[in-house]
Amino acid sequence: MDRPLDLLSMTPEELRDLFSSLGQPAYRAKQVFSAFSRGLSVGEISTLPKKLRDELAATYPDATPRIAEKHASALDGTVKYLLRLFDGNAVEAVLMRYEHGTTVCVSSQVGCAMGCAFCASTIGGRVRNLTAGEMVGEVAALARDAGERIDGIVIMGIGEPLDNYDNVLRFLRLVNRAEGLGIGYRHISLSTCGVVPKIYDLAKEDLPITLSISLHASDDARRSRIMPVNRKWDLDQLLNACAAYFDATGRRISFEYTLIAGENDTPDEAKRLAGLLKMYLPDRPLHVNLIRLNEVKETGYKTPDGEAARRFADTLNRLGVTATVRRRLGSDVNAACGQLRRQSAAKGGEGTV
Ligand code: SAH
Repeated sequence: MDRPLDLLSMTPEELRDLFSSLGQPAYRAKQVFSAFSRGLSVGEISTLPKKLRDELAATYPDATPRIAEKHASALDGTVKYLLRLFDGNAVEAVLMRYEHGTTVCVSSQVGCAMGCAFCASTIGGRVRNLTAGEMVGEVAALARDAGERIDGIVIMGIGEPLDNYDNVLRFLRLVNRAEGLGIGYRHISLSTCGVVPKIYDLAKEDLPITLSISLHASDDARRSRIMPVNRKWDLDQLLNACAAYFDATGRRISFEYTLIAGENDTPDEAKRLAGLLKMYLPDRPLHVNLIRLNEVKETGYKTPDGEAARRFADTLNRLGVTATVRRRLGSDVNAACGQLRRQSAAKGGEGTV
């Protein structure tokens, strides 16, 4: 942990111990935990005695993120937020409305250390990890603003969640608590670029979340070029870890594959991908989500047209690998993840990039 635990990161049991040490009744713990999951900060919990609020505010940082910018799609109800953290840093979170409910996409770090060549989030490197409480605060801030119950979470915003393992695991357990947001593990997806040792650790946690692997290439030379993490843990190590994860949890593995024009979007590449997945994960249920690149000016990479994406999906499906082209929700507000934060920093909203 890179700084003292904030109140938002505490479980109801830890809060109970804290309040007990302050001579406060046990019911305060549930009161505060539930208020946090509704997006309130300590100062806003009017049922707490003022003296106690002041005492807590003086001792603990206010981890509740504040909405700095809000961009609502005119097309489909998607809302993209820039959230300001207590130390002036900013992250992005997105509210997405699907037929089966409302899902929030959260960031797990300020910036990212992984260096994927097409991604905006990693351009300034990793500034710091988010605490578990700050991630809870992202979900709660959006729930409060939208006035809606949140049904699902995807950890697919800024950052590499498996590079912030302990805080992310604590976050998963906090949002699952019935006294709080009460989000079922089956409605939570965690996306990783392939931090292999942590995939094995995650398999042992016995949480029925969906693991989503960012693949983006089907051979090591190409993958290492666009995803430096592959130089440390190659496709063989990654896909063996996926098989082990499936065998330990029984959960379907989901793959993300961002289509980049002229880089990884040819039918030959689709054939190689199908062969690779079938070789490492025979008879395992899996799914490939194809995402057309969101162009990031600084990278020079281009997005393929819809026809190339459909052809890629058709090739995979024909070869027995289930693939769908992801619907582009909020395409009118959908600056690629990480761009809102960079724009805000460029305007002087944040002094850390
Ligand atoms: N670090 C995690 C989660 C964050 S990104 C991971 O790598 O999985 C969520 C997904 O968006 C990843 O698959 C990532 O590779 C992809 N992505 C990043 N930048 C993108 C862009 N400009 N266009 C399309 N997809 C992108």
